[in-house]
Amino acid sequence: MPSHAELLTELRWKKFPVLNDGFVCLVDCMGDDAAVVQAARVSYGEGTKRVSDDRTLIRYLLRHRHTTPFEMVEIKFLVRVPMDCWRQWIRHRTASVNEYSTRYSVAIDSMQATPADDWRTQAEQNRQGSGAPLAAELGQSLTDDEHHFQVMARQIYQKRLEAGVAREQARKDLPLSTYTEAYWKIDLHNLLHFLALRMDTHAQQEIRDYATAIGENIVQPLFPIVWEAFRDYRLAGLNLSGLEVGVLQRLAARPRAIDRNTWTEEDFAAAQDESWRGLARSRERDECRAKLEKLGLLESRL
Ligand SMILES: Cc1cc2nc3c(=O)[nH]c(=O)nc-3n(C[C@H](O)[C@H](O)[C@H](O)COP(=O)(O)OP(=O)(O)OC[C@H]3O[C@@H](n4cnc5c(N)ncnc54)[C@H](O)[C@@H]3O)c2cc1C
Repeated sequence: MPSHAELLTELRWKKFPVLNDGFVCLVDCMGDDAAVVQAARVSYGEGTKRVSDDRTLIRYLLRHRHTTPFEMVEIKFLVRVPMDCWRQWIRHRTASVNEYSTRYSVAIDSMQATPADDWRTQAEQNRQGSGAPLAAELGQSLTDDEHHFQVMARQIYQKRLEAGVAREQARKDLPLSTYTEAYWKIDLHNLLHFLALRMDTHAQQEIRDYATAIGENIVQPLFPIVWEAFRDYRLAGLNLSGLEVGVLQRLAARPRAIDRNTWTEEDFAAAQDESWRGLARSRERDECRAKLEKLGLLESRL
């Protein structure tokens, strides 16, 4: 297995492609799994070495949200992202950012293009989300429109520059699909927070692609023990609210038909929380149902 130093050499400046012309790229990294452990042992003392190995300690820290040891690791990336996606990304305030200046330089001549089979319908339940893919024929026409619009926007921008308009003003009608580049430096604790939010199914697909590229191509190989714990406790883990625990307790008290492994919709209706009862729609109830389905305790409605 390659050492951390060898992995770093291999990964640095390697561009992992995202979308049609974006990328994520590791520039520098200070620390590894051992740096997290080293910081934690200052507070727990040498004695810990005997009772817990590094993996057990990292898993304990992540499970119990003892976060500061993870802040001892710093990672710097270079990323190329369309501006609409960057607008979501930049909401994460705990990183240091230096972005390409379109006041100082001509805007990057590249825009995020959507393939014909990649247009998504508006989700019916989730107002912030996407639903099923659009029909390919319609998608092709939307992709053609997109292309014409992007070419025209760039031509207008170019014409303004050639007419002597200042770059800071000429850029104002460039579409949000225009790519920007930035150096993005963040500690491991806040990076995991970013990944947990942005790899989640509730995040927009485009930023999920970026977060997944960072997580799987860079964080996973460089921090295998931290990644394993992060996957177990954040990505694949399931949080249950007090209300949901109540639902589970009431379900467990209900007898299941001898030939059934799962509870029925009727059981779920009877076990639901008081505050959901009588509501035609309840997002919290839907989320509880989804968790029970994931656990294999309730029949899937799909
Ligand atoms: C699925 C999804 C949908 C979203 N929808 C919207 C939306 O509709 N509209 C919208 O405006 N935003 C939206 N956001 C952005 C969201 O509200 C957060 O701004 C973003 O996810 C950054 O999260 P954060 O503040 O935890 O991260 P960071 O800024 O990286 O902060 C990390 C942590 O540091 C602490 N922290 C940082 N700054 C402060 C501070 N000033 N005060 C106190 N604590 C601080 C907090 O504990 C915070 O969790 C959405 C995000 C997601 C993931």
